[in-house]
Amino acid sequence: MTSSARPFLNRRLAEFGTTIFAEMSALAVRTGAINLGQGFPDTDGPEQVREAAVRALRDGRGNQYPPGPGVPELRTAVAAHQLRRYGLSYDPETEVLVTAGATEAIAASLLALLEPGDEVIAFEPYYDSYAACIAMAGGTRVPVTLRPGDGSFRLDLDELRDAVTDRTRLLLINTPHNPTGTVLTREELTAIAELAVERDLLVVTDEVYEHLVFDEAEHVPLATFPGMRERTVTIGSAGKSFSFTGWKVGWVTAAAGLVAAVRSAKQFLTYVSSGPFQYAVAEALALPDSYFASFRADMLARRDLLAAGLEEAGFTVFRPAGTYFITTDIRSLGEADGFTFCRTLPERAGVVAIPNGVFYDHREEGAPFVRFAFCKQTDVLEEAVSRLKALAG
Ligand SMILES: *Cc1c(COP(=O)(O)O)cnc(C)c1O
Repeated sequence: MTSSARPFLNRRLAEFGTTIFAEMSALAVRTGAINLGQGFPDTDGPEQVREAAVRALRDGRGNQYPPGPGVPELRTAVAAHQLRRYGLSYDPETEVLVTAGATEAIAASLLALLEPGDEVIAFEPYYDSYAACIAMAGGTRVPVTLRPGDGSFRLDLDELRDAVTDRTRLLLINTPHNPTGTVLTREELTAIAELAVERDLLVVTDEVYEHLVFDEAEHVPLATFPGMRERTVTIGSAGKSFSFTGWKVGWVTAAAGLVAAVRSAKQFLTYVSSGPFQYAVAEALALPDSYFASFRADMLARRDLLAAGLEEAGFTVFRPAGTYFITTDIRSLGEADGFTFCRTLPERAGVVAIPNGVFYDHREEGAPFVRFAFCKQTDVLEEAVSRLKALAG
């Protein structure tokens, strides 16, 4: 076990000890359980993209500090991707910034845009780095809870409107949403955009799962709505879109002033990162639509496999419209507390999952929910499903 940071960790970060992922991944290793906790694919992205990275490395492209904003090839490719997919036009010179994954993009955006005491509204449950980054930036987080109903977790727009105060500076949005799999609809996004314009708020929108939307769901970037381009920082990630989470290549697109602000913070975090990989991701972003279509179809099949298995095992399944996570309700199994459930699941069924409670400020709201990742090989998912059947008795 790792030692406690408690005697040394400052007040801003005191509540953020070790992440649940470290605890649960260690548990998976110790017990030999199948790890459906942490969301990383167990199959690497396209061969030709890997080869592009090797070529860049061999040709000496990116082996030394790349330019601060990112290599021009990647900035151009990001801009072309936003234009081709969404009709959003960004200048690669001034309106695109390459970051060390979406994680750094989130951190740099919050560090750059928040004054101490500024309030940030984020959907709860939220991705775990949001709370820590808001705290590091001296901001105050104001959670708006997504609540289950009708098979998915939904946003209460009135609650969102009521959460805005004179101190609100920024909305931190995530769609498709981790961990619930909710994809905000055009109507919801319209309302969010109107609120941001009316109250003059900045928006940071984490769209790392933009290519993982299923069924009838559609990913619409917030920056496409009226009045939003000039106030929105959009974040993407090669880790999620191309299954190279270890490369840590992410990006920001926004109006020039916002990008300049985010770059000011970013230059003192990593300055630059992932040199050769940036060239490879530039090639990945130019892959034909068929790549994205088959990536999506492939993940959809995995979603359906795991969702059916979880249902058979007795879980209530919220079939996700996006991301590679399934949130379940364990009350149908006669369980009430996700933490206890996840700590004993490896012993009971040889599978590791994540209790959604860790993604909530209002822990009681998240207590009965548990998250499983389905970005795993089919035989791994099949084995997990057959083990989970033990729970059905
Ligand atoms: C994985 C993830 C990130 C981090 O992306 P990286 O590019 O690996 O840093 C950010 N936001 C959400 C919602 C994620 O699931």
